[in-house]
Amino acid sequence: MSEDRHRALRQDSAVVHAGRATDPTTGAIVPPIHLATTFARDEAGELLGDFLYGRYTNPNRQALETCLAELEGAAAGAAFASGSAAATAVMQSLESGDRILVGDDFYFGIRKLLLLFGRRSGVQVDVVDLADPVATEAALSGGAVRLVYCETPSNPLMKVADLARLAERAHHHGALLLVDNTVATPLLQRPLALGADLVLHATTKSLAGHSDVLGGALLARESTLPLWERIVEIQRLAGAVPSPFDCWLTLRGIATLAVRLRAAVDNAERLAEHLAAHPAVERVLYPGLDSHPGHAIATRQMRRPGSLLSILVREGEPGARRFMAGLRVFTRATSLGGVHSLAEHRIVVEGPTTTTPVNLVRLSIGIEDVDDLREDLEEALGRVRA
Ligand SMILES: *Cc1c(COP(=O)(O)O)cnc(C)c1O
Repeated sequence: MSEDRHRALRQDSAVVHAGRATDPTTGAIVPPIHLATTFARDEAGELLGDFLYGRYTNPNRQALETCLAELEGAAAGAAFASGSAAATAVMQSLESGDRILVGDDFYFGIRKLLLLFGRRSGVQVDVVDLADPVATEAALSGGAVRLVYCETPSNPLMKVADLARLAERAHHHGALLLVDNTVATPLLQRPLALGADLVLHATTKSLAGHSDVLGGALLARESTLPLWERIVEIQRLAGAVPSPFDCWLTLRGIATLAVRLRAAVDNAERLAEHLAAHPAVERVLYPGLDSHPGHAIATRQMRRPGSLLSILVREGEPGARRFMAGLRVFTRATSLGGVHSLAEHRIVVEGPTTTTPVNLVRLSIGIEDVDDLREDLEEALGRVRA
C-alpha cells in the first residue's frame, strides 16, 4: 500500500497499514528492523537516504511515528523510550517560570514526575480537578498558564474531562492543551479533533498491547507550534528514544489494536455491569455506566468507554486485600491495556500518603473469555468478608 492510499483508510484498517509499506528491495510485507546507528553519505557529502544518525531518526521509528500521527489525526509525531520519557520531554521544553495545570487524578508515576520536575526546574505545576469546569476556570484565571496537562479518563478514579470545552477555555486563556490519551487510545477518543494541541501516549499500554515493550509518543496538531519544535529538539538531542526493535514490536502490536480493543471493551462493559450489582462491591468507577458522573461527556467524546475500570471493595483495605489474594485468572500486576487481565490494589503502589481510596482496586480488562474473568472476580469477591 502506498502512503497516499493510507490517508483514506478507516481507523481499523489504518492500524494494519499506516506507516508500513512493502519493502521495495525484497518485497517483504513486514518492515525489516534497521539496527544501523549511522547512515552513509555520497562523494559530494549528501546523505544517501533520509537518515543521518540513529538518535535523530531511524526507519523503524519513523514508521511508528507516521502510524501514530495518522491514528491521532496529527501533523507530526515523536516517539520516546517510554511514556514517562515523553512527559519529561514536555517538561524540558518549558521554561523556568512557566505555569502549567495538571489534573488532580493522574497516572501516579507521571504525576510524581511532573511535581518533581516542577520543583527542580522552576516550572510552576498547579494541581486542579480538570473534570470540574468551575475549578478549572478559576485556575486558568489565576495567572498566565502555558499548558493544561490532562488525562481523561483519568486513572485510577476514571474522571472524565470535557475535552472540547477544556480546549476552548485553555485557548481563551492563551494556554495549550495536552491530553494523555493512553487509557482511551486513538480508536476510542481523538483529542486533536476536539481541539487539543498535543497528545501523549504510553505506547507501553494498549497500543503495543502485550506487556512486552516500553514506549511513549507525543503527537502534535500543528508541526509549526513552537513548543512542538522544542519537543522534537529534545527528542533528538537528549536521545530518550526507543530502539528500532522497540519500534518494530510496538508497530506490530498496533496492527491488532482494533480487534483487541473490541474484545477487551466488550468484556469490560459486561464485567462493569456485573460488578455494579455485586453485594461485595461498594462502587464501580467506569465511564460506560449510567451511574458514572462523566457518563454523558464520555458518551459524547469517546466511541466506547474503554477497557479500564476501578472498583471500591467493601470491608475497606482488608476487604480489598482479601479480594486480591483470591484472584486466579487476573494477574496481580501494575500496568494496563494489555491482552492479560490485570488487577492492582492501588494503595500497595501509591503508599499510605495517597489520596486514592484504600479499598480501590484497578482492573485492566484483557481479551480472555469473559466467563473466566467473571467467575474469577466472583470467587475473589466471595472472600471479601472476613
Ligand atoms: C503507563 C502510563 C504512563 C507512563 O508510561 P511509561 O511507559 O510507563 O513510562 C503515562 N500515562 C499513562 C496514562 C499511563 O498509563
